[in-house]
Amino acid sequence: MGRIAEEFGKLVFNDHTMQERLPSATYKALSKTVKEGRPLDPEVANVVAHSMKEWAVQHGATHYTHWFQPLTGITSEKHDAFINPQSDGRAIMSFSGKELIQGEPDASSFPSGGLRATFEARGYTAWDPTSYAFIKDEVLCIPTAFCSYTGEALDKKTPLLRSMSAISEQARAVLKLFGHDDFTQVQATVGPEQEYFLIKEEDYEKRQDLILTGRTLFGAPPCKGQELEEHYFGAIRPTVNEFMKELDSELWKLGISAKTKHNEVAPAQHELAPIFTTCNAAIDHNLVTMEMMKKIASHHGLVCLQHEKPFDGINGSGKHDNWSLGAPGLNLFEPGDDALENLRFLVFLTAVVEAVDEYQDLLRTSVASAGNDHRLGANEAPPAIISIFLGDELTALAEAVIENKEFKSAGQVRMDLGVATLPNFLKDNTDRNRTSPFAFTGNKFEFRMPGSAVNLADANTVLNTAVAKTLKNYLEAVADAEDFESATLAYVKKSLTEHQRIIFNGDGYSEEWPIEAEKRGLSNLRSTVDALPCLIEEKNVALFEEFGVLSRVETESRYEVKLEHYSKILNIEGLTMSHMAKRKIAPAISKFANEVATTITTKKAACPGIEPTADIALLNRLNDGANIMALAIDKLDVAIEKAQSIEDTYTNACAYHDEVLPAMVELRAVADDMEGIVSTEAWPVPTYNKILFYI
Ligand code: ADP
Ligand code: MG
Repeated sequence: MGRIAEEFGKLVFNDHTMQERLPSATYKALSKTVKEGRPLDPEVANVVAHSMKEWAVQHGATHYTHWFQPLTGITSEKHDAFINPQSDGRAIMSFSGKELIQGEPDASSFPSGGLRATFEARGYTAWDPTSYAFIKDEVLCIPTAFCSYTGEALDKKTPLLRSMSAISEQARAVLKLFGHDDFTQVQATVGPEQEYFLIKEEDYEKRQDLILTGRTLFGAPPCKGQELEEHYFGAIRPTVNEFMKELDSELWKLGISAKTKHNEVAPAQHELAPIFTTCNAAIDHNLVTMEMMKKIASHHGLVCLQHEKPFDGINGSGKHDNWSLGAPGLNLFEPGDDALENLRFLVFLTAVVEAVDEYQDLLRTSVASAGNDHRLGANEAPPAIISIFLGDELTALAEAVIENKEFKSAGQVRMDLGVATLPNFLKDNTDRNRTSPFAFTGNKFEFRMPGSAVNLADANTVLNTAVAKTLKNYLEAVADAEDFESATLAYVKKSLTEHQRIIFNGDGYSEEWPIEAEKRGLSNLRSTVDALPCLIEEKNVALFEEFGVLSRVETESRYEVKLEHYSKILNIEGLTMSHMAKRKIAPAISKFANEVATTITTKKAACPGIEPTADIALLNRLNDGANIMALAIDKLDVAIEKAQSIEDTYTNACAYHDEVLPAMVELRAVADDMEGIVSTEAWPVPTYNKILFYI
């Protein structure tokens, strides 16, 4: 244990290291800039950079990089050596304040959704000093924001940081009303639970679909799936256990508090959850974790699949976004000890209910991707409809507020809402509802829609900004009130009445829910192409603009990038499928059919008068299958070609969704059918039976 404590954060230039290594005046100046969110003084930056470099070199680093999150959703880095040649032929290691604060990568190879056409190709990266620098593979990584030369955000971190300031400002103003003048910041906190699959490298290498698209495009159901429910929390395979141990150890060195690890529901599926931290650091950590998972898997002959749906018919992977608001020593979603604290809790709770209802479309959009489309709405993940689970106790409280009724909690605590004071009530004491996309879980909310592959920045940017907006609505409503408590309760009542349709504690997987949700007027955006247009709806553009999170052009550019990304993914999947069908599967069926035909001829020659009925029936099925498959391949090729010829980004994405995707489903059906009758030896790729069940 002692060793772990020593190793934890060893590769991070964290507050402790800064205090130890920086001159105290520099440390103070840096802390002040971070707290106030102002640009760093060049003199201070020089001292910080020098000290950071000395520390990094002592820990084996040779290069540094501005580590950023372009709109591709993954992370980017370009390595520069610390090396600085001298006139006498030697070289010294150097790193200046300028190099620390700002980088100038060429932005033209990153998606910009049209911003590039209007602005210069140059971009710059700027240090986010609220997220610590760390060493990965002998490279000092400096977390940065990435912008165009004229200041438009080209990444996912910039709007996230802006949304964090927005919610901090509004939440602080609310806290002030409740007598807390002492908080300089309110932090949005996040704890992401990462699901993933581990399979054997030897199987992965034989499947082009996994290599090129991250998911299997073909594959008949295995004989055994997840019906025995023995995998969830089951004993961990020795190879997987070794992987998990190495992963934990590497993450701890990077100051990432990996806490919980277990097997998930599906065979070969697992989960890792860290201890929560501030929103932007949690997301940086999650991205590093995903990268480490892939890298460390290879040390164990394994491959880590992070796609939302690697195997059809088997549970997909999500990434639950546990989200809350905290000030030092205070969780704003924790019911308090007295009437005023409970009223404060009610205000923040109401703000979330209002935000999730008002911006349900935007939240849905933030998790929309080609991969996640396979999860949402398929009885394993929350449906594409957004609703909030509050639990019995809080729902009863909300109803009492709405109807001006006396509230009787399960703990028999009474409260008379008429007099605008709230006695204690119990925290949610009902079972957690696993089918809800957005659940209150004691002192935080759990947004369960995000897929395993996604960068959580988008979802949290929406959440932070939407709640900033509803807190602002509240502040405006009570600004001039004479009796603050009555005005607060009146606002809560009005808001909950208007937004109670979003509260749903029932079974989100049931067939009745979509019907009920439609009656309530909730949106049901089934696919990415259904969801994305919401991003540029006026009310949503206005929300981002109001809080300076995204300008109109920035929002519009993101819409373009997301659509393009969707089309590109489907184009790659379609082409890979067609390629595998033509070059691998169809020839394998043909070859096997030929073997069967030879068997028939041989049997007949060896034993005249014999009737090899079973072989003939098999040959007929194989032949029929091959014919249907040829037609399905043609149909897919035509659909892809047609989609490729469409210029307009939205119509293009729709063509992939409406025509390419169904053609892929059709081709898969016949191929999977054939997999069931072709001999194991003759089938050209490893099957689900083999991939999912290994030792
Ligand atoms: P589950 O029961 O959904 O599997 P876990 O215990 O695995 O939940 O994960 C819960 C996650 O929520 C953890 O990452 C935890 O750190 C995080 N969490 C707890 N409190 C907060 C909070 N105040 N803000 C954000 N995340 C939190
Ligand atoms: Mg969870």
